[in-house]
Amino acid sequence: MDSCIFCKIVRGEIPANKVFENDRIVAFRDLNPVAPTHILIIPREHIASVSAATADHEATLGALLLAARTIAAEQGLEANGYRLVINTGNDAGQTVFHIHVHLLAGRYLEWPPG
Ligand code: C5P
Repeated sequence: MDSCIFCKIVRGEIPANKVFENDRIVAFRDLNPVAPTHILIIPREHIASVSAATADHEATLGALLLAARTIAAEQGLEANGYRLVINTGNDAGQTVFHIHVHLLAGRYLEWPPG
């Protein structure tokens, strides 16, 4: 997707503070962190949201969660825990329509979210 900001990060056209990359996934620090650790995990492939995903995306969706697990371990987050969030659609506050997992950690995270 030419105009998608996360596709531009994947292509290296705009900078990002990357913490992880593999053949399917790129992860980078959120520009506006809401927790001491706030990392966005995205697929290289453009999928607009969970709602837009199909069975064809099964491997990519699995890779997102496995990357989250790997990154959490690499960042030393397993002992105290972390939260994975996928905002989907307007009511959930999704602002970038390229599917992404927020990895949040480093403080106690309230539940339920606001
Ligand atoms: O789930 P949602 O779509 O709201 O999350 C988008 C996230 O992408 C925001 O947390 C925003 O700070 C982040 N972002 C970023 N770098 C950009 C554009 C957005 O970290 N260039």
